[in-house]
Amino acid sequence: MISPNVQRLVLSALAPVIELLAPQRCGICDCEGALLCQACRDLWIPTRPELVPATGLRAAAALGPYEGGLGAAIRTAKYGGVPGLARELGAALRPAITRVTRSTPFQATLVPIPTDRSRVHERGFDHALLIAEAAGLACGAPVAQLLVRTRPTAPLHAAHRDERAAMLDGAMATVEALPIPPAIVLIDDVRTSGATMREAARALHASGAQWVAGVSVAYER
Ligand SMILES: [Zn+2]
Repeated sequence: MISPNVQRLVLSALAPVIELLAPQRCGICDCEGALLCQACRDLWIPTRPELVPATGLRAAAALGPYEGGLGAAIRTAKYGGVPGLARELGAALRPAITRVTRSTPFQATLVPIPTDRSRVHERGFDHALLIAEAAGLACGAPVAQLLVRTRPTAPLHAAHRDERAAMLDGAMATVEALPIPPAIVLIDDVRTSGATMREAARALHASGAQWVAGVSVAYER
């Protein structure tokens, strides 16, 4: 009898191999041929991303609402274990990053929202880091993991809007050994209430960041 923990470890270790061998399927419509087919790109990946409310940030943008194709792609990447799809979504963030950085004179550094360690362990990869690295490649922007979680937080979607802010208060800090660049664009998969990005911006400002904006793949209404 193999324990579920061992099964999970083996599966996460094999995930990159399975990804290489299996035919690529679209993370939205499941058709064969690519991780994100052209029809779904045309339908769900906009050339002009939306600005979203940016409390605590200079600006915030997302590709579109979580309901529909973008949510399906995020769920396939995260829970279906398809790191290549996370990279496709990251590369698609380029126009959103251009949109929020228009007003800064500095070269912005992309900083992923830190994922809870236990979830990275379960999935075998850090989806937010993959998204940020692919976005950095697409934009020619540096990427730095400057933030850490100071304590585990329960999944936020289960909490009410006002509870989320309290749950996140002081939940992030900057990595002490790393220099803080003047301009930062936070990168996340889903913007729920904005509380996560607000907490990340608070921690970065407390460590000397001057200009912090945020970009997410999708937003929840
Ligand atoms: Zn498709």
